[in-house]
Amino acid sequence: MSIVNGDSPRILQNFIGGEYVDSIQTPCKYIPVTTPHTGEVVAQCPVSTAEDVEKAVEAAKEAYKLWSARTVKDRVQTLFRFHNLLHTHIDELADLIVLEHGKNKAEAIASIAKGAETVEYATSLPQLIQGKILDVSKGVTCNDTRVPLGVVASIVPFNFPIMVPMWSLPIAIATGNTLILKPSEKVPLTMNRVVALLKEAGVPDGVVNLVNGTVDAVNAICDHPDIKAVTFVGTSQVANLVTERCHKLGKRVLALGGAKNHLIASPDCNVETTSTDVVNSFAGCAGQRCMAASVLLIIGSQPELLERITAKAIALQPGSKAGEIGPVIDKASLDKITSYIEASEHGGANILVDGRSWTKSHTKGFWIGPTVIFHNNKEDKALHDEIFGPVLSIYQCSSKEEAIEIENNNPYGNAACIYTTTGATAEWFIKRFDAAMCGVNIGVPVPREPFSFGGINRSKFGNFVDITGDGGVEFFTWRRKVTTRWGQENLDPKLRM
Ligand code: NAD
Repeated sequence: MSIVNGDSPRILQNFIGGEYVDSIQTPCKYIPVTTPHTGEVVAQCPVSTAEDVEKAVEAAKEAYKLWSARTVKDRVQTLFRFHNLLHTHIDELADLIVLEHGKNKAEAIASIAKGAETVEYATSLPQLIQGKILDVSKGVTCNDTRVPLGVVASIVPFNFPIMVPMWSLPIAIATGNTLILKPSEKVPLTMNRVVALLKEAGVPDGVVNLVNGTVDAVNAICDHPDIKAVTFVGTSQVANLVTERCHKLGKRVLALGGAKNHLIASPDCNVETTSTDVVNSFAGCAGQRCMAASVLLIIGSQPELLERITAKAIALQPGSKAGEIGPVIDKASLDKITSYIEASEHGGANILVDGRSWTKSHTKGFWIGPTVIFHNNKEDKALHDEIFGPVLSIYQCSSKEEAIEIENNNPYGNAACIYTTTGATAEWFIKRFDAAMCGVNIGVPVPREPFSFGGINRSKFGNFVDITGDGGVEFFTWRRKVTTRWGQENLDPKLRM
């Protein structure tokens, strides 16, 4: 695995007012960025402070004056060009994702393409956000138009270095806001490159700013009175902290949290397609997707389904090529995943596929293979906590009622899926799932543009719209309502006041 741009780890900078700049503090502190393939340090990420956030806010406020005054048609011209650049640089960007995150190349490319979809949606905004007008009484009209909020910020997680930033960035700026983005300190390289592409596309200096760092930068974003709204994506614990901190200032916040997604296999499911889909869902992207399968509830005994899931999971190989499974993000994640497998084993669960063999066979990096656990005890922690790795917990239920009860009792609410060949069974589950993104025979039921993305319960905190699509437009704008009465001359005399 080569280190990008040279032999020594790259020292990264922030991107403020259209320029790469060092963090203000002296001496500047850095966090090493490792490639999960080998654990080798590939870059140093600055740990920004409140002063850096202040500098970014000043740049964003200055840029807002002209950017918000441009028409939406004009603003999205830059996004058409940016969309083109994302595609012409897709190979280079995918390599960065493979390097710093560990996804395989095909997964990295797919994630960029999915991010590009939200850019496409944002380029359609001139056709979608023209507002409303109506004669509401004699000679009186009301109109309603969308107004940008000002400077806004997005704090993003490690698991999709481009795709998650693209959930907010294109819509935020197309609607006239200027943005401060705080990438994950675990994967800062990709967005560090993307901001240069935004500049090349003609996005004016200060419209998109990048402030690297961790807790201090996040807290400074939440506390800054001139940042009008914050989107966050990450663990539920931090989503909750960010929401509370923003709400103390009455700030608009949309914070997407963790997940524990349940898939249910009805006895009438198609065994071949279900087993393929379940394995792709739990093992793809090394299980580091908030929409990944985590628990499979099998209704009744389904030995053939278990056999095929086991066979397909065992057949997966480690690596970076299409179909191969990459490493998990870091040592802490590897240790956490391993501890859940160990606890399940000690509690009497059957480990049908044991990914710990990959850890033993790799002397470097953070590798753990697909793991399938058959639980005999409903209370096993692996059935309840978010593990965020390539682990599938299977539990056999006696009835559909028991399956739905287990799904409903989990505190999260991102995804749920039913595998069945019967419409009535699908409908029964869809009406009862306590999750906002549901699938029928689809294990990663991500709504694609123009549909918005977002869960419920402990998967989403803050002001209750979804991210992307019309939820994103609602979040990044407020509505100006104007009630107008001109002179009465144009009205029929009988209608005059
Ligand atoms: P994380 O919560 O550790 O980090 C997210 C962001 O918050 C990062 O930018 C990080 O620097 C910052 N941060 C971390 N700890 C903080 C603290 N104590 N105070 C302030 N800021 C802090 O999440 P992660 O590990 O990067 O990402 C994985 C998590 O994200 C999983 O739980 C996954 O389910 C979730 N996720 C959810 C969605 C969704 O749509 N619901 C999408 C992607 C990922």
